[in-house]
Amino acid sequence: MRTVKLSSGVKGWQGKLHENYVSFQEFFEYDKMYGLAKRLGFSSAVSAWNHNPVIQGGVNPSDFKLVSDGQTYVTGMKGEFICPECGGNKIEGTGNISWCVSKQKWQVESVMDKGDYCEDCDREVEAEFVILKGAKAPKLPVVSG
Ligand SMILES: [Zn+2]
Repeated sequence: MRTVKLSSGVKGWQGKLHENYVSFQEFFEYDKMYGLAKRLGFSSAVSAWNHNPVIQGGVNPSDFKLVSDGQTYVTGMKGEFICPECGGNKIEGTGNISWCVSKQKWQVESVMDKGDYCEDCDREVEAEFVILKGAKAPKLPVVSG
């Protein structure tokens, strides 16, 4: 579990689901109270537990969210990758593509969380995912506590 700065500006934590909850039973209890699995985009607590996704959270309930491939996103919120050095968005990612015969085009199979490249800085950077200004948060169940 590491400490991270959340999109709301406050300090929070980030880690695997299994790191944050001692047992499925514990997660299950919290899920019943706060609907955690649904907030993360999973259909049930069991499904979320089996995927063991990387999640982020903090004091603010709206900060509880899914982190994918080292890149943070809130389901349904638009954002972009920016360079932490120059703030530009001419970022190239690294990943695997494969040719899709039916669609007749290259498809992204997976995106690496390392190996981002900034065209302006002309070197490898660790791009940050930022939510676009004015992007609306998806409607989530209200969580207290
Ligand atoms: Zn740059």
